Amino acid sequence: MTREAELRRLIAEVFRWTYLKGLTTTIGGNISARLDEETMLITPSGMPKHMVKPANIVKMKLDGTVQGSGKPSTEWRMHAEIYKTRDDVKAIIHVHPPHVLALYSAGYKIPTDLVEVSAYVGQNIPEVGTYAPGSQELAEAVARALRPRNVYAVILRGHGIVTVGSNLFEALNRAEILEQAAYIAILQKLLEEK
Ligand SMILES: [Zn+2]
Repeated sequence: MTREAELRRLIAEVFRWTYLKGLTTTIGGNISARLDEETMLITPSGMPKHMVKPANIVKMKLDGTVQGSGKPSTEWRMHAEIYKTRDDVKAIIHVHPPHVLALYSAGYKIPTDLVEVSAYVGQNIPEVGTYAPGSQELAEAVARALRPRNVYAVILRGHGIVTVGSNLFEALNRAEILEQAAYIAILQKLLEEK
């Protein structure tokens, strides 16, 4: 199997997992992997996650030129800007995890003193403001927040999260850890209220 075929298979698989783990809805969210310096593979626009097959993954240049067929996720600009900013990033996951969103909406943050957070995501989890989904402004704000090489996750206010990694499972693990940490933080606050 070529590297491209393997990456297409992994993207479809990890995409399904983001849905099964409750990190996003049937259509929401998008993920990608870097194929080479100037090319990425990204999930298609508007297709139910459980139906996405390796052949549906879209190959495109970071300048927006689609290679072959398919319509890329409307958030392709965000993925492209991150790859242009960070050459160490090989995979990107964008999802809308409910507990993270609830936590930040209520004015709290991910507790970075949790061992899994500090070990796998780090102490620096920046938050960017509210921008129109799919916009170049959102793409640039997220890429700017990810410029420091010790940042692996960004909170998009009122929208979701972006996690990056040297492979898809590293990025998926980070997204799961953020959602789990947010869940723990919410439970902790509820218990403390007694
Ligand atoms: Zn989104």
